[in-house]
Amino acid sequence: MDCDKCGKSVNPRDDAVRISAIAWNEPLTLLFAGARHIRCSPSRAQHIVHPHFKPVFDDRYAFDKRQWTDPSHPVYKKHGPDYIKECERRYTDAWIQLQDECDLEEAKNRAFKRSRKYIELQKKIKKARKEKRRLERQKKNENN
Ligand SMILES: [Zn+2]
Repeated sequence: MDCDKCGKSVNPRDDAVRISAIAWNEPLTLLFAGARHIRCSPSRAQHIVHPHFKPVFDDRYAFDKRQWTDPSHPVYKKHGPDYIKECERRYTDAWIQLQDECDLEEAKNRAFKRSRKYIELQKKIKKARKEKRRLERQKKNENN
């Protein structure tokens, strides 16, 4: 699926919509939302704190978590002083879980592609394509 912000293809492991769905335990949002790169969503990405994730900052006052320590900020007023920590925990854990799921999925695909079943199937497909081309050539020659 393509990113609704930059238009480029989104690798599942970089999908902010999936990360958010995991973070807030809202899997149904995946049914209705499109895809967006986590880096195209700084309001979410700023909460991922991990050595393998280059930090992102959101400079918009309403969303910038660095502003949330100010007791007069609307987010602080609504959620209190621990909200930054909660968001960091939720988004970082969600990002780690998504990376793990994608690693497993990729390992499964690699294992499948080296299985005898897959290799036999590829041989059958190749043979069928060759036969189709042969029949097309034969038909073309008959029409000439
Ligand atoms: Zn994007």
